[in-house]
Amino acid sequence: MNNAETIKARNANPFEVLQAVKRAASQGMESLNEDDLFLCKWLGLYTHRHEKDYFMLRTKQPNGFVSPEQLDVIADIAEKQNRGFADITTRQDFQLHWVHYKDAVGILERLSAVGISTLGACGDILRNVVGCPVAGVDREELFDTSITAQKISDFFLGNLEFANLPRKYKISVSACQTQCIHPEIQCVALVGARRRIGDTEELGFDLRVGGGLSTQPFLSQRLQVFVRLEETMEVIRHITEIWRDSPEYRQKRHHARFKYLIHDWGLERFRKVLEERLGKALDSTPEDFKEPPDTFRDHVGVHAQKQPGLYYIGIPVLVGRITSAQMKRMADLSRRYADGKTLRLTNRQNLLLLNVLEANVEKTLAGLSQVGLSINAHPIRRSVVTCTGTEFCKLAITETKARSRQIVEYLEKQVPLEEPLRLHITGCPNACAQYQIAHIGLMGSKTKVDGQIVDAYDILVGGQLGSAAAFNHPLVRKVPASECAKRLKQLLLGFKRQRKEGESFPAWCTRVGDAKLVALLTQEEEHPLTA
Ligand code: SF4
Repeated sequence: MNNAETIKARNANPFEVLQAVKRAASQGMESLNEDDLFLCKWLGLYTHRHEKDYFMLRTKQPNGFVSPEQLDVIADIAEKQNRGFADITTRQDFQLHWVHYKDAVGILERLSAVGISTLGACGDILRNVVGCPVAGVDREELFDTSITAQKISDFFLGNLEFANLPRKYKISVSACQTQCIHPEIQCVALVGARRRIGDTEELGFDLRVGGGLSTQPFLSQRLQVFVRLEETMEVIRHITEIWRDSPEYRQKRHHARFKYLIHDWGLERFRKVLEERLGKALDSTPEDFKEPPDTFRDHVGVHAQKQPGLYYIGIPVLVGRITSAQMKRMADLSRRYADGKTLRLTNRQNLLLLNVLEANVEKTLAGLSQVGLSINAHPIRRSVVTCTGTEFCKLAITETKARSRQIVEYLEKQVPLEEPLRLHITGCPNACAQYQIAHIGLMGSKTKVDGQIVDAYDILVGGQLGSAAAFNHPLVRKVPASECAKRLKQLLLGFKRQRKEGESFPAWCTRVGDAKLVALLTQEEEHPLTA
C-alpha cells in the first residue's frame, strides 16, 4: 500500500500532522515517519532535496492577494530564517526555502497571525484558487471576480469533506480580456461571460473543465454552459464532489487527475452527471462568447485603473525570486504612495502594486529601481517562468533558477524584442513551470559531454493560449544547458530577420516549419537563413 492509499484507508485528517511537526521540533526529523512526511504536504511543507533537516514551505494567497503587512512578515521570515529570499509560484503563492524543522511551527504561526494559511498549499486537495491579479481595478474587465475566487477558497480551506481528493485539483476564476490566469490549463476554470435576456444583461461564467499539464498535457474544454453568479458555489461544490467520489481515479496515481476523468468520460457524460447532481439543467453559454487572442498576459508596466486617478504597477520579478529587501520596499511603497493595503502576486511569478495615486507613480518607480526592480523589461525578462529545479526539488533533473537567469540576461543583450514571447523553463517533465504553453519551452534532461553527465534541455516551440490554444512540440532534444542561451539567440535572430510584419512568434514557427527552426537551433556558425 503506498502513501496515498494509506491516507485513504484510514481516512485521516491530514491537517493533524501539525502535531507531529510540533513533536519533531523537540525530537528531531527522525520522529516523522514516512506517512507524516507525506501528510506534511497538506500543511504546505515539502522536505528539501539535499538537506534532510529542512522544508520548503508554500503559502496560499487566494487570487494572489497579499497585503503590505503580510509581505513584511514573509520578508522578515525570509531574512532571518530562510537565507533572504522567497520564490513566487505559478499559482500566485510564495515558497520559502530553508525552513528548519525546529522553526517550522513558529513560522506557520507567524504566517497565520497575519492571515496567511498554508492549509492545502500542497497535497491531494484543492490548491490555491488563482484569479486575475487586477480583478476589481482593470478597466477592461467584465466584472470583479476576486470575490468569487475568495469565496471558493474560503469554502474549501481546511474543509475536511474535501481534504482527501484523488489527487491535486486546481481552479481559476477570471473575467479580464486577456485571460491572464491561463484557464486553458486548469482542472476547472470560471471565465467571465455575459448574456442578454430581453432588455436585461446578466453576468456569469463560461465553464471550462479538464485542463492540466504534467507529463501528459490536456487543454481544458468549454462545457458550453453559462453559470449564473448565484449558482457558482453550488456548481463548483458538485464538480468537486464528482471528482472526490470517483474511486476509479484513486487506483493508479499516474492516472489520478481530473483531466483524465474529463477525457475518459467526455463532456456529454460529465455534464449529464453534473446536472443530475445539481437537480437541474444548466443554461448554455451565449454563442457570441469569444476567446481572446494570444498576447502579453502579464499586466507589467503602469496602467490606469477603472478608479479615476489610480494606477497599478506590474513589476517583473526575474525567475520569481524576490529578496527580503525588495519585499520590504514593495510593502513600504504601498503604504507611502498607494492605499497601503493591496499588492497582488501573478501566475507569471511577478508582483503588482495597486491603487497608486497618479501623483505618486514616478516616485514609486524610483523607489523600485533602488532595489533593482524595473518595469522597463525585455519581453523575455517579463515573461520568463521557471520552476524550483535541483536546488530544492527532489524530482528535479536540472538546475533551473540560475540557468534561467543566465539565459534571460544573455538574450536581452543579444536579441532586441518588442513582441510578446513567453519562455518557460522546467527542471523535469512534471511541468511545474508549465513549459507546454510557452512560445519557447525548455524541459530538463541530462546528456553526456566529454564523458561527463551534464544538465540538458529539450527545446520546444509553438505553444499558444487563447483562441488558437495549442501545446508546443519538441524540436531538438538534450541540448547541453550551457549551450541553450546561444541556441535560443540563433532561433530568435532568425525570427527577427524572417518574420513578416506583425507576425507573431508562433505564427512564424508554423510558417517556416520545423526543419528550418531546427537548422537555426543547431547551426554552428551564426548566419542569416532565409525562410
Ligand atoms: Fe520539481 Fe520537476 Fe516540478 Fe520543476 S517541474 S519543480 S523539477 S517536479
